[in-house]
Amino acid sequence: MVYLIHFERPYQHARHYIGYTDNLDQRIHDHECTAHGARLLQVVRGAGISFEVVRTWPDGDRTLERRLKRQKKSWKLCPVCKAERRGPNEAHSHNSRGKDS
Ligand SMILES: [Zn+2]
Repeated sequence: MVYLIHFERPYQHARHYIGYTDNLDQRIHDHECTAHGARLLQVVRGAGISFEVVRTWPDGDRTLERRLKRQKKSWKLCPVCKAERRGPNEAHSHNSRGKDS
């Protein structure tokens, strides 16, 4: 599966990590507890930034991983960032309903 990791705060220009694994639980353990994690996540952790998996594509393969990594606007993939962009008031706003005409 393909997974998306969101950083608590940006590291340089990066705020996400996209990876591929057959065993997400094991992979996350590697990221968090061992030196086998991705280099980017190591330096992010070193900078004191926490991160978490916020989205997975269970059927995603390495082709999808590459495609997602090429996306410039990775925040669009991320539920946390999308929520931030929407702002706190949008969640209970119904303004868009019935205004299709
Ligand atoms: Zn995000």
